[in-house]
Amino acid sequence: MIVWVGIDDTDTYDKGCTTYVMYNMLKEFLKTRGEWRIIDYPRLIRLNPNIPFKTRGNAAVSVGLNVDEPGEALELAEWAVDSYSHRVGKTSPGIVISTNNSEHWIYWKALTDVIPMDVAVRWMSRLGVIHRGGRGVIGALASVMADLRLDSTLELLAYSESTPKPRIPLSLVKRLNDSTIPLTFENMSDGHILIQPHGNDPVVFGIRGDSPYHIIHFASFLIDEIDIEPKWLIYLTNQATGHNLSSIVNKPYTTGYIEGSVSGMRQVGGGNIELNVGSTQVFTYRHYGFKSVDKATYLIAYGGVKPGISGLDLYMEGGVALMIKGVARNPKCPRCGGSLESTGRVGLLKCPKCGLITGLPRQVSYSSEVILEEPRSVEVRHLHKPITRVGLEGLVKVFNRPSLWII
Ligand code: ATP
Repeated sequence: MIVWVGIDDTDTYDKGCTTYVMYNMLKEFLKTRGEWRIIDYPRLIRLNPNIPFKTRGNAAVSVGLNVDEPGEALELAEWAVDSYSHRVGKTSPGIVISTNNSEHWIYWKALTDVIPMDVAVRWMSRLGVIHRGGRGVIGALASVMADLRLDSTLELLAYSESTPKPRIPLSLVKRLNDSTIPLTFENMSDGHILIQPHGNDPVVFGIRGDSPYHIIHFASFLIDEIDIEPKWLIYLTNQATGHNLSSIVNKPYTTGYIEGSVSGMRQVGGGNIELNVGSTQVFTYRHYGFKSVDKATYLIAYGGVKPGISGLDLYMEGGVALMIKGVARNPKCPRCGGSLESTGRVGLLKCPKCGLITGLPRQVSYSSEVILEEPRSVEVRHLHKPITRVGLEGLVKVFNRPSLWII
């Protein structure tokens, strides 16, 4: 039978990584069970980036396993969490085991909203989902129910427990980036490496992309150069899919988008700009590098929402600025075709050629411009869909899972 195992909330700010718990769980499973018993890739699912109690990127993991009975998967997951999680402070590991992974509404809810623990527990009892542990069951359940039917991406995570993390040469990343984009993405930005996390976790680097072969090519060259034991896992993810844009935001700590006419704009300290869009205050930070928000007449802005002084505050992470400009010109003289000029009196124009004085209205022509507001790549959050991915949706499904998906 196939059961879905979800795990979340196993790490602290300075230690561990939930993806490493999954890596070790699958390695253990493979010691006694065939690879065919692991359904597709394991999933690394990013949830509401606006959750106050997340450690870093609000990620949860899950995998489908072909086992004799659910207890076998539960025992394995409990062993992995006990052996590889770091229970300090707010860490509250959770495991779920489910025979059903198609309640996608739970995923969409967890991506954009805050789910109280008692509500998640009620859903699980109704759906017959086995759960163990604390708050982590919310993310674990959402990961199991992830909806990756229309779009998904891959990320190869390479691990090493040696500290400090090996240094990755920029020149090599640049060369590998140039030879694999757009089928890998978010490798570097403005001369900075984006593939290496800075914390104390065991992740040496992560390569994201749409083709497993380009990702493996990239990773093999890196491993060879930095000379560490090859140890990696490719995940199927919702990263860079823009899935967080699925809902209109209307309450605190949710994520999504708003749109409307810009009725006010203020420069606030440090070159940051605050805009009024309907009843929402939109904050745009200068370091995001948005080009035209200060000239927008209509704005689609997405990001996270927090309570503000007089309503909701949206912290913009990207969007679309629409600029509509009206340019007024004097009409031509209806008698001689000359160019009418102002008389200095409101509403009256005069022809310098034939002397006609007329009350003809000025002619207004409108022009509009649409600017895609992309954040600078160093500011990009996990769910943001980069423009280079447009047109690649669903590509991951074209490739078979390569034999080197886990080593
Ligand atoms: P890392 O990226 O290092 O794995 P993290 O940022 O994913 O860390 P966690 O330590 O997993 O953070 O903590 C997130 C917690 O928030 C988990 O307990 C998870 O169950 C819970 N959670 C995730 N999404 C929601 C949601 N939409 N509503 C309520 N709780 C959520």
